[in-house]
Amino acid sequence: MAAFVPSAAVLATAVRTAPAACGARSSAFTAAVTPAGARLPAAAPRSSVLRMAAEVDFDAVGERFAAEGKSPVEVIDYALETFPGEVAIAFSGAEDVVLVEYAHRTGKPFRVFALDTGRLHAETYKFFAKVEKHYGIRIEYTFPDSAEVEALVNEKGMFSFYEDGHQECCRARKVRPLRKKLGTLKAWITGQRKDQSPGTRTAVPVVQLDPAFKGIGDSTLIKFNPLSDVSSEQVWATIRMTEVPHNELHNQGYISIGCEPCTRPVLPNQHEREGRWWWEEATQKECGLHKGNLSDEAGAAQAADDLVADAVSGALVVVFTKTSCKFCTATKDLLTKMDVPFTEINAEILKNSADVRAALERKSSQTTVPNIFIGGRHIGGNAELQAASQSGALVEMLASVGISVPQPSAK
Ligand code: SF4
Repeated sequence: MAAFVPSAAVLATAVRTAPAACGARSSAFTAAVTPAGARLPAAAPRSSVLRMAAEVDFDAVGERFAAEGKSPVEVIDYALETFPGEVAIAFSGAEDVVLVEYAHRTGKPFRVFALDTGRLHAETYKFFAKVEKHYGIRIEYTFPDSAEVEALVNEKGMFSFYEDGHQECCRARKVRPLRKKLGTLKAWITGQRKDQSPGTRTAVPVVQLDPAFKGIGDSTLIKFNPLSDVSSEQVWATIRMTEVPHNELHNQGYISIGCEPCTRPVLPNQHEREGRWWWEEATQKECGLHKGNLSDEAGAAQAADDLVADAVSGALVVVFTKTSCKFCTATKDLLTKMDVPFTEINAEILKNSADVRAALERKSSQTTVPNIFIGGRHIGGNAELQAASQSGALVEMLASVGISVPQPSAK
């Protein structure tokens, strides 16, 4: 794969105003994406728009848009109008380039972001650059945490996903970077379509409260899926008619394009998703970016797994506790006495408490609290911590993650 090193300018946040260019394509494009007689929503004053963003029932908006058959351009125009500067298009480097075209056609400023997993095809990197040039934009690239990817690859190798499933690698290279990016936004626009994936995308609302991710300041995130009811044929009719750039891999038989090791071309009449994670079950192919599409239980379980994994990797010493637990108090007292900085997560008061406790059990095979992790390693409960303290093993464990404390006997 050819190296692609984005410049500092590329990494900078980009807000773009649509230029007057591409006017020659205007009428053909409008005919391709806007139902006859449909008009873009009238602009509302900014103050009322901001108030609306706080008060609107977006599930109901989604249902109304679906009932009225709003075109993708109208949906995107509404998103840009409602969340100026705080909504961005998620661009995967494939056929969802039409979203960029649609946003361009609204004439409003818009933002585009992409996840660079480090495992994309050279053609996809070139395509990103082509799209930037075509629209005069800078895509906002988001990268995985290098320490997390390094730990995964050094422990399991470069292709562990073929052995034990793609979720772990996708979580590190896609889901966490996406979560970080979405945490800076109030809404996002995706290229999800109902016809893309058997089993997982059959219910893709045009507008929804994101079931899996949070927005800025832990707020509810709004997810727009303007292509929900658009077919692959219609997307490609638009790409051809408007002559927007497309990924060269499409010319080689690729339809759904993701990371290079997890994408392959499909044969005529094969479903497009058969070219992704082909070694796994068809109904379990979501990479986590749209995990709300999995069944509610599976989505909730994965969200809890992510929460636990994030917490454990986010601090050197992490203690999961519950309210009114004398063993939790004893653990915290010991760590406080030793001057050990730690993060406490009271699993009982979380909204998804039951899911988090189940996720903790999956991760540690321990059902009780406190549940203690040091440097990502599971230590056990209060009894194990006290014993480690007595034997001196705790001081060594802490030293191994860079926390220096004297042996208790020396105090
Ligand atoms: S698609 Fe494959 S390479 Fe890319 S993040 Fe997922 S498992 Fe890793």
